[in-house]
Amino acid sequence: MVEDFLPLVYSHANRKYALIMSITANRRGNMSKKKAIFWFRQDLRLDDNPGLKAASEHQVLPIYILENEEREIGGASKWWLYHALKNLNQQLDENLHIYQGDTKEILLALCKEHDIDSVHWTRCYEPWRIKRDKGIKQQLNDNNIQAISYNGSLLWEPWKILKSDRTPYKVFTAYYRRGCLEAPPPRKPISPTKIHSYMSMESAKFTNNRIMSLPKIKWYKQLEPHWDISEQGAQSRLKDFIQKGIKNYKKGRDFPASHDTSRLSPFIHFGQISPHRIWHEISSIDHDSNIDCFLSELGWREFSYYILYHFPEVVDHNLQKKFDNFPWQPNNDFLKIWQKGLTGYPIVDAGMRELWQTGYMHNRVRMIVGSFLVKNLLQHWKEGEKWFWDCLVDADLASNCASWQWVAGSGADAAPYFRIFNPVTQGEKFDPDGCYTKKFVPELKNLPKKYLFKPWEAPSDILKQANIRLGETYPHPIVDIKKSRAQALDAFQQTKK
Ligand code: FAD
Repeated sequence: MVEDFLPLVYSHANRKYALIMSITANRRGNMSKKKAIFWFRQDLRLDDNPGLKAASEHQVLPIYILENEEREIGGASKWWLYHALKNLNQQLDENLHIYQGDTKEILLALCKEHDIDSVHWTRCYEPWRIKRDKGIKQQLNDNNIQAISYNGSLLWEPWKILKSDRTPYKVFTAYYRRGCLEAPPPRKPISPTKIHSYMSMESAKFTNNRIMSLPKIKWYKQLEPHWDISEQGAQSRLKDFIQKGIKNYKKGRDFPASHDTSRLSPFIHFGQISPHRIWHEISSIDHDSNIDCFLSELGWREFSYYILYHFPEVVDHNLQKKFDNFPWQPNNDFLKIWQKGLTGYPIVDAGMRELWQTGYMHNRVRMIVGSFLVKNLLQHWKEGEKWFWDCLVDADLASNCASWQWVAGSGADAAPYFRIFNPVTQGEKFDPDGCYTKKFVPELKNLPKKYLFKPWEAPSDILKQANIRLGETYPHPIVDIKKSRAQALDAFQQTKK
């Protein structure tokens, strides 16, 4: 099989298409006359895209549908999606077509109008999409159109990893070590697809589309310098991480000022790089604890999807029912202050401002701000989940819901509720030089390290020298850390009743 040889000539660095092109050129004479739709979804890439590869055997109509989703995507994600589609369109020689509306109706109408023989897509795992896609498959088949879905977003299909009693795992370590690592390894990634024959059709071309546009108020400008939203950008980021970050990943991943994490999450979410490509590139490096640690983080992503698949209620309901009794104390003022990064706790404020300014927040800080919201401020985890959904460029239904439930203690394999992150000691431990905090909370940049994470303890002359007036240039703490911790533990006792 030609396919078996392609990975040998594939290189992230300079994308050697030459040999691939010459092999496929020989096959062009045998191109099928059939017509296929490739329906792009969360797989906005040419590399390692099995469904696209299969569709490319025919004349292809590549499409993207802005779906009427059960849950609309957030603002930062819309911005990312726009650029990801723009880049994909360029890679497809401006042949991407874009539609908006009811997916089933659009697909059926296109098939009918253009005499399509087959429709191909990569599987998604949101509960409503699974249901909807089954219906689409059935209806296409009823109309004698082949409908084929492919694995392209998960390393292990959730239905394949089960305990010996055929029930799903609920604990990450058992799921990953006993379930995934003992199962057949993730398939090898395949080479980038080159499409040789597009269906010629002017209508709905992405290039002339009026459906996708950026908002008039250019709030997203501040996000732009942080990201290269393209398939090439994803591959460069992986390459960079392999050269610089992975060596110190296990330790460095907890320090937000370090550059030891990959920042691949939005690219993975939108499918600009496949988890298979990442898994195999990383696995091919000499094994050590950094590699194992990184692969297990990809495992956490798989676990989040696994939970979403087997327990779709994770989106809206506590997985641990006792949390249904939790006495949340809804407070809109608290929520707004937290969102703006004005809580008076510098590491929390730095995280919330990083999110607003870059569309991203470091994992350690996500845990700190999350714990602060649900435990010290007693706001429902759904409020945090909603804000992240709107602001994160990697906002992902599975990972966001599972992670918020993990932080709140109500999830499948969650942090115990009594583990309440102390924002002062967390700051001191994980941002010891204060570089991260000072970057996002510049009004504290002259405060000595000793007081950086607790400015309210600084003597007045030190505050004066640092040009800080508490309550004016930087807020007083929104709550007392000890009291709010005790209150949270009391509230937790009520869940046991
Ligand atoms: P790296 O450390 O380089 O990890 C590599 C990849 O592994 C990530 O890109 C991601 O795909 C996956 N990964 C790593 N950690 C986790 C994790 N704990 N759970 C699931 N997958 C993980 N991640 C999202 O992708 N989307 C979200 O909406 C999201 N919401 C979160 C909300 C909260 C409250 C918390 C605590 C975590 C959330 N995460 C989410 C998980 C994690 O914070 C991010 O995946 C990670 O910070 C992304 O940075 P990175 O790519 O540099 O990660």
